[in-house]
Amino acid sequence: MSDPFAAFDRSEVQDYLAVFDRRTRKQGERLYQLGRVGQLKPAADGLSLEAQVHEDGTVHEVSMVLDPDFGWGGFCTCSGVEDCEHVYAAMRAAMAELNVAAVRDLSAGQASPTRPVPARGARARTPCHPEVPLSEFGEEVAARLGRRLRPPERAFLLRLQVGYEHVRAGRPFTRWNLEQLGLGLGGNGWEAVELWPRRPASEKEFWHYVANAALEHGRAIPEFLAPSPT
Ligand SMILES: [Zn+2]
Repeated sequence: MSDPFAAFDRSEVQDYLAVFDRRTRKQGERLYQLGRVGQLKPAADGLSLEAQVHEDGTVHEVSMVLDPDFGWGGFCTCSGVEDCEHVYAAMRAAMAELNVAAVRDLSAGQASPTRPVPARGARARTPCHPEVPLSEFGEEVAARLGRRLRPPERAFLLRLQVGYEHVRAGRPFTRWNLEQLGLGLGGNGWEAVELWPRRPASEKEFWHYVANAALEHGRAIPEFLAPSPT
């Protein structure tokens, strides 16, 4: 039987769980223990993970992405914040899967780790991952602004990057993906939205389609990304 978490690095997940503040950890642990994490979908390459966290009749969609240099970062539909208790709960569920796999490896006589273990404590991390590098488009936006990006602006650009990666990978772009950008248009989350006549060739083009759709539906786009008056 193939292990869907085979490509995941356990110590990276462990490092990420340690990033959360005590309160968030406690809330996330509780959600996990209550069995509120479902639809855990690990990517075969071990670089991303999606899940649903059920709480008080609401389903929160969480997605987590591993930056090979800077570790995991997570996003959630609860309020567009990063590293919330839902992300913790989902990651905690992933950790449980990895622990099961590790125990299985041990009992199968594979005592040595099957994955390279990176040096621990090599980086200082904060919950908003200011060190995750921006894409070319993100850098372009930052350069045009001519000032330092504020944390929410940076977080938005990182979410946009994740959205574009999703589209570039040929996956359907859904209402939920828009929701993740804080630009939800309502409707069923799993319904694909057609915002472009053909798949955007760049993140910039992707953003233009998304921004147009949002504006057409009367949604405000982040001010720092609004076209400058000419
Ligand atoms: Zn959340």
